[in-house]
Amino acid sequence: MAWLITRSLPLPVLTSPPQLETSNLKTETSPMGLAEYKKKRRFNQTPEPGPREKTSEFGNIFVVQKHRATQLHYDFRLEADGVLKSWAVPKGPPMDPTVKRLAMQVEDHPTDYAEFEGVIPEGEYGGGTVMVWDIGVYAPENTDNVSKALAKGELKFVLLGKKLKGSFVLVRTRERQWLLMKHKDEYAKEGEDITETQPYSVFTKRTLAEIAEDEGGDVKKAATGDPKKLPRRTGTKRRKQSAKKKVWHSKKS
Ligand code: MN
Repeated sequence: MAWLITRSLPLPVLTSPPQLETSNLKTETSPMGLAEYKKKRRFNQTPEPGPREKTSEFGNIFVVQKHRATQLHYDFRLEADGVLKSWAVPKGPPMDPTVKRLAMQVEDHPTDYAEFEGVIPEGEYGGGTVMVWDIGVYAPENTDNVSKALAKGELKFVLLGKKLKGSFVLVRTRERQWLLMKHKDEYAKEGEDITETQPYSVFTKRTLAEIAEDEGGDVKKAATGDPKKLPRRTGTKRRKQSAKKKVWHSKKS
């Protein structure tokens, strides 16, 4: 979890809290488990991490990865049972409490996936550019058993990320289809689409097009996932064509 320190996230604790009780579902037997993750990928072709089950140092990380694949979507992931429970959210997570965002549950991803930013080769599963759009820790609300709450079809939780903060809920509407909603609280931003106002990588401050350019991806395709008008970038020098390429190496963290 080098990113917790090297990326200086505003986390209140740097010691490990007690691990969440999430151990009553066997991921191996689930059609949404890591076996499915493994089956879909060729690990000699994709830079994505292998299907290793592992608990993070915190036991309760979350990550949102912006993914310009066949369709642009945001992969919303919550750690539970040594994997990242995952949903593809076409329009991205909301900070506006009046908005409901469709979230399609997809196969569990390995915990190591949280640090993956780069390019999945075209022709491979999920081919396209991936950005770590937000990362942090979460706490479930009204339960200490995340898997049980998910199995029942509703999980309330608090996120502590760089962009996403405060109370949210995931509610299953049918089978793999869920809704992701923001609760009204001090962090809620009515009328603001945070995917438009904060489009950069939380790790590298890059756009999707810049990630594609740096890492040999399809720049034109990636650029269609960036907002047409980019907001000001703070805390980073303006990139120049001639400047040395800034590459995020997830494996070196
Ligand atoms: Mn995806």
